[in-house]
Amino acid sequence: MRKIQMVDLKGQYEKIKERVDSSILEVVESSAFINGPEVHKFQKELEEYLGVKHVIPCANGTDALQICMMGLGLKPGDEVITADFTFAATVEVIALLGLTPVLVDVDPLNFNIDVEAIKRAITPKTKAIVPVHLFGLPAPMDEIMALAEEHDLYVIEDNAQGIGATYTSKDGTKTMTGAIGHVGSTSFFPSKNLGCYGDGGAIFTNDDDLAHTIRGIVNHGMYVRYHHDVVGVNSRLDSIQATVLRVKLPNLDDYNKSRREAAKKYNKAFTGITNIITPSGPCEDANPVCDTCDCHVFHQYTLRVQNCDRDALVTHLNEQGIPCGVYYPIPLHLQKAYKDERYKEEDFGVTNQLVKEVISLPMHTELDDEQIEFITSTVINFVTS
Ligand SMILES: *Cc1c(COP(=O)(O)O)cnc(C)c1O
Repeated sequence: MRKIQMVDLKGQYEKIKERVDSSILEVVESSAFINGPEVHKFQKELEEYLGVKHVIPCANGTDALQICMMGLGLKPGDEVITADFTFAATVEVIALLGLTPVLVDVDPLNFNIDVEAIKRAITPKTKAIVPVHLFGLPAPMDEIMALAEEHDLYVIEDNAQGIGATYTSKDGTKTMTGAIGHVGSTSFFPSKNLGCYGDGGAIFTNDDDLAHTIRGIVNHGMYVRYHHDVVGVNSRLDSIQATVLRVKLPNLDDYNKSRREAAKKYNKAFTGITNIITPSGPCEDANPVCDTCDCHVFHQYTLRVQNCDRDALVTHLNEQGIPCGVYYPIPLHLQKAYKDERYKEEDFGVTNQLVKEVISLPMHTELDDEQIEFITSTVINFVTS
């Protein structure tokens, strides 16, 4: 059996090596390292893929979130609601800009932000909601957009884990995640579903004025060379990353399909194991890996294990040569940097429980049946013994 990787970037690279190597070499030979034609071409191709009017590439997914908030003109004191159970980048940029993060609990079945908890957290100071399409499953965008409209709030989608996922609205409209809210962001960190070979990120919007504002912000607040109209940042995607992304973008749907297929095999193997809760999705049959649905892109395949020592399972899997991860081990509201007296423990019942139960198994585009069979049987043997 091939060695099991949490994310097999090397195996994926080997399949596209020729095109990647020649594209990188072309950039080097052209010496157009920054804002070269490759960046522009990638931007256009991603706009087309997502069905969004504007893509603004930038340096990473954290910058992308920060720039979204700067572009919307959010001001110190404004409250921004986001999920307690996510990667810290989301809350970090809110705090960095002097905005007030308001963390809320999540849904125990799909790990995404809980709409009822958002409702309870809205105050006259609330200006924006940041749903995160966690682990690759779209957040309940119909409900979130309706709430935002009712209370005149912006919606910023953190699509770092969801690129390529499709959200189906109640009226049947299908939209790619990241293109639903007023503005969206993503990360091209190597292990993300669409990863480059370094750092990268992008911002998406259908709003022409906002796109214009953001294009200036990413470039030192300049709209005319050496005229700095607003305080900006320096955040750009370089041409080498863009050219790698151009090779990989046409494969993204296939990559996500391989992830779904691996998830389907995992789910099947774990069926009937009562102390394992497999990830569920928004499909009617609560099966996130149905054949007709491309709603879940499985950035992570995350189980909840109950009546079982999760940390001992992690150790056991590692001893067996199976890498795994705990995303996330500490709720954001309990992190030193983001503690706030206003938070009440009873408002975070779900996150507090999830951090003890979750375990993410290897998930990438190169998993084979032998590896999946070894991983699932090792997990099952441990949790049922
Ligand atoms: C990875 C990630 C980010 C940050 O992306 P970087 O490119 O690493 O800055 C933000 N939000 C979420 C949910 C992520 O998973």
